[in-house]
Amino acid sequence: MPIYEYHCAACGSDFETLVFGQATVLCPSCESAESTRRLSLFGFRSGGTFVASAGGCGCGASHG
Ligand SMILES: [Zn+2]
Repeated sequence: MPIYEYHCAACGSDFETLVFGQATVLCPSCESAESTRRLSLFGFRSGGTFVASAGGCGCGASHG
């Protein structure tokens, strides 16, 4: 189901709702249409540093 996360600019509330097509999303708290869609699927997760492994051995030993 197309569930999107929205942020209301009127009251600052965050909510998730079902959106079909270009339907107008109303805030469940203040029923305002000043809500913007947030990127929840591709959002950056805080509290972690992603380190890309360029090597191939994966043994963890540093060759010097
Ligand atoms: Zn609101």
